[in-house]
Amino acid sequence: MRFISTRGGCEPRTASEALREGLAPDGGLFVPQTLPLLSPAALDPDLPYPERAREVLAPFFRGDELEPDVPGICRDAFDFPVPLAPLSGKVRILELFHGPTAAFKDFGARFLARALERREAGEPRPLTILVATSGDTGGAVAAAFHGRSGISVRVLFPQDGVSERQRKQLTCWGGNVTSYAVRGTFDDCQRMVKEAFRSPDLAGRFRLSSANSINLGRLLPQTVYYVHASVLFLRETGERPVMVIPSGNVGNAVGAYWAKAMGAPIARIALAVNANRVLPDFLTEGIYRPRPSVRTLANAMDVGDPSNLERLRFLFPDRETLEREVSARSVTDGEIRDTIRRVFEGSGLVLCPHTACAEYLRERRIPEAPAIVVATAHPAKFETVVEPLIGRPVPVPPALSALLDAPSRCETIDPRMEDLFR
Ligand SMILES: *Cc1c(COP(=O)(O)O)cnc(C)c1O
Repeated sequence: MRFISTRGGCEPRTASEALREGLAPDGGLFVPQTLPLLSPAALDPDLPYPERAREVLAPFFRGDELEPDVPGICRDAFDFPVPLAPLSGKVRILELFHGPTAAFKDFGARFLARALERREAGEPRPLTILVATSGDTGGAVAAAFHGRSGISVRVLFPQDGVSERQRKQLTCWGGNVTSYAVRGTFDDCQRMVKEAFRSPDLAGRFRLSSANSINLGRLLPQTVYYVHASVLFLRETGERPVMVIPSGNVGNAVGAYWAKAMGAPIARIALAVNANRVLPDFLTEGIYRPRPSVRTLANAMDVGDPSNLERLRFLFPDRETLEREVSARSVTDGEIRDTIRRVFEGSGLVLCPHTACAEYLRERRIPEAPAIVVATAHPAKFETVVEPLIGRPVPVPPALSALLDAPSRCETIDPRMEDLFR
């Protein structure tokens, strides 16, 4: 299997080359040359999650140097539950928040970290991963790469731009993970990372790489839970679900579209965005207009220029197909609050603000349809939003509370790239 750039300007790569490079040299994103059909084994309802992952991912790594490692990587990376919890009649919640940092990004980050560690074994110089983060990504990447040999991580976050719990998850690591609180904004952090990648001086001193959501190694494992959930749903209800997905950079959703194209029993896919409505506007107007992001209660989706849209447009190149296959709606902060309150009163379930966007959309647009609402984070990560709405504390899952109790350390630096490599 080979991977090509969405912009068509470079030679096809193997999976592990695409993982190591991150962005394609022509500025595009790596996508599979063809999407393999799921094997009968991958569609077996009785398969435990790590084995499902192995079956779904094997074709992508066929002929690659990492091929023999895929089963071991899957066993090791996906060692936490992936439950499908009942919400009502034919509606289920896919809980993707049982990993170490309690958000779905653990799936991609843990797979990528293990794959890169194996690929890097034997390299004389360590790989340095740079991540700029405004929230969940940095924590998941730091957790996944912590203690991996041959790889070090530098996480940059805006000093005043993350919540107290997010800060804890970014600064509790040490060892091969160094955290930098930048006296600036998220945009400053991102600019510093971009400058570092362009610096000829640094290229001579370090082997730099990135682990953000455009990396193929984070996307491929996100197909697996859509296969898993839709297969279990079909067995339980006899129907194929609509997947309703809270979206920002649209990486999670691309996993669902790929899974559907590979033959997962999914009826349709619907995307919920917050007040950052670039995607729905693009679908109705046909003109892509990126905008500065606005802050919302679902802050991991505060994206004004969704990077993985390029992969969706590659998958559905003509306008007609794109409009038929992709639907996206915007949800306001008021609707998020109402949904969290209403679902709690009705069922006792506590949703995070991102998941609430998806559930609002489902109730409004497809109340009768068999559906899976994708829960991207544990509500305890957003306790300052959720607890006042439901009037009680949200218990913190054990993995997360271990992180919150660990001592924190970070360096505070000015927003200058040089300060990152002093
Ligand atoms: C990152 C994130 C999202 C958005 O996912 P994309 O892949 O960027 O669309 C949604 N919810 C949570 C909790 C996240 O951390």
